[in-house]
Amino acid sequence: AFELKRKKVFVAGHRGMVGAALMRRLEKEDVELLTINRADVDLRNQAAVNMWFADKRPHVVFLAAAKVGGIVANNTLRAEFLYDNLLIAANVIHASHVNETEKLMFLGSSCIYPKMAPQPLTEDSMLTGPLEITNEPYAIAKIAGIKLVEAYRSQYGSDFISVMPTNLYGSGDNYHPEYSHVVAALIRRFHEAKVMGAQNIVVWGTGLPRREFLYVDDLADACVHLMKVYSSSELVNIGTGEDITIAEFARLVAAIVGYDGKISFDAARPDGTPRKLLDIRKLEKLGWRATTPLKNGLKLAYQAYLSESKSAF
Ligand code: GDP
Repeated sequence: AFELKRKKVFVAGHRGMVGAALMRRLEKEDVELLTINRADVDLRNQAAVNMWFADKRPHVVFLAAAKVGGIVANNTLRAEFLYDNLLIAANVIHASHVNETEKLMFLGSSCIYPKMAPQPLTEDSMLTGPLEITNEPYAIAKIAGIKLVEAYRSQYGSDFISVMPTNLYGSGDNYHPEYSHVVAALIRRFHEAKVMGAQNIVVWGTGLPRREFLYVDDLADACVHLMKVYSSSELVNIGTGEDITIAEFARLVAAIVGYDGKISFDAARPDGTPRKLLDIRKLEKLGWRATTPLKNGLKLAYQAYLSESKSAF
């Protein structure tokens, strides 16, 4: 197993939802944590990234920095989602190679799998068919990152690995009304409806798509586990193995928030991919399982929203 003990561990993207969860989890390990302040080093800037790496020479890198967002953000900011994510992956992975980082983990996403791939999605279904169009730019950037990891491993023997998390939620999420992911969007919308006494809340799409949701602190735990035990160019999915329709999910969030008005669906909004449930057999064989049931995780996420959000009265 790979030892983290007393290593210099760089969490790229430590202010994001995933990076912050990784920081919380890594505080329990005997490591020296390194982070980058966005104002000092822009990860899209190759020269700045190279200088920082040459100076700090991290032993271990968790690459959790990315431009992220929900279905509308992905589909609207198509240029930024491709450009920013390509540059972040290329700069950090290459600098890790040049500066002899011992181990790197690249975080991808379940959206890299083809829209119509068989469910649950196995790791080997990447690049077997066309992608979902709404998040194709993001997915292409992530696939490029995966291929970089693979190429540095095969050409130089670098111990770089890639993991594919499912849809994530939890503390540190982005609650933007238009650009957030569905969990944060619905927590906020139902909470505001409850506070204002609104009686009809609109959920996007048909309500029919199915999604799998993983609590972000569970993801961080899985990442630290895999960093220690896994070493291969093959991907590893990280999920719960269970999914739920958006309609059912909306009712669950409403119940947790305490909104008891009507829920309607706006089919003019995009559904995105019909289903993306990850096959987690490999993850389980590697000795890890999610421990936070969706209902408990959503309660924690709602509490986090109440303490983090400025719109919470
Ligand atoms: P996706 O998994 O990449 O499609 O990411 P999202 O989290 O943005 O969306 C997941 C599903 O939730 C899609 O089918 C959306 O149409 C649906 N959805 C329903 N209401 C909302 C909302 O208010 N915001 C977002 N982002 N998605 C919503």
